Amino acid sequence: MIQFYVPLNFLGMIYREIKQAMVDIEAMFAVLARDPEITDAPGAPDLVVSGGTVRFEDVRFAYDPEREILKGVTFEVPAGRTVAIVGPSGAGKSTLSRLLFRFYDISSGRITIDGQDIRKVTQDSLRAAIGMVPQDTVLFNDTIAYNIRYGRAGASDAEVEEAARLAQIDGFIRSTPHGFKTEVGERGLKLSGGEKQRVAIARTILKAPPILVLDEATSALDSHTESEIQTALDRVSEGRTTLVIAHRLSTVVGADEILVLAEGRVAERGSHAALLAKGGLYAALWNRQREAESAQEKLRAAEEVL
Ligand code: ADP
Ligand code: MG
Repeated sequence: MIQFYVPLNFLGMIYREIKQAMVDIEAMFAVLARDPEITDAPGAPDLVVSGGTVRFEDVRFAYDPEREILKGVTFEVPAGRTVAIVGPSGAGKSTLSRLLFRFYDISSGRITIDGQDIRKVTQDSLRAAIGMVPQDTVLFNDTIAYNIRYGRAGASDAEVEEAARLAQIDGFIRSTPHGFKTEVGERGLKLSGGEKQRVAIARTILKAPPILVLDEATSALDSHTESEIQTALDRVSEGRTTLVIAHRLSTVVGADEILVLAEGRVAERGSHAALLAKGGLYAALWNRQREAESAQEKLRAAEEVL
């Protein structure tokens, strides 16, 4: 029997870690892969956010020493501005957001918020300052209201409802059997990807963090849902430092700066117009997406005729 002891104990440990992570839903997706060596420095102070300027300075990173994912990435998101990251799948875009949350430590370089190295402040204060709308939102098995209020435990019903309205999810919620008291998740009402994402946006609106990371996953959504989510995202990012990881280039046109990440480096950077004029990687990505979209539209139109 003794041989069961270690694995069970180990499972218990993982279970406790998962439960712990449930406390921070934003951390949940990374819990199993997280580096256990990430700890607060002794006596680490809390992060003090003034404007919320985010800087990556010559950041290098590898999950696995054999394969470097980021090979010296430098950029700044000035306080209150929006920077978009685009690039091929696997380029390391989501990795940037995980590094900003300090789920992993970088191998060299520096990541700072208002000049403070994120390795030198408490993880709690760091994560409290950042709101994340991830690609895949996991909901608690509880009511819709609970899931939104998770953004700020003390929020009133009126504040929860206002956040839902801003996230363009209130109409849907009112159409459910018990409105805000409707149970969702595994045992309750199953929400679509777009609905879950809007719940995550409502939660983030309630949290009102100075820094936002939006890992857009709108490619699977129909264009109506996508534009509703876009409206909701635009509202939440107003006046906040925002890093948008964009899958659809149409959503980055208005960004203050666009970075094209490719092969671990920032291959191009600039405004939408400047990058198009340059005729490089971004222009090629843009044209390819336009073609794919117009082909899709033609297909849809043809289906309507049939
Ligand atoms: P993107 O968001 O640009 O599509 P990611 O940042 O998710 O790309 O991933 C960048 C690369 O890192 C990919 O090749 C991916 O397979 C790899 N990767 C992502 N997460 C891990 C992990 N936990 N362990 C090892 N490799 C990973
Ligand atoms: Mg990604």
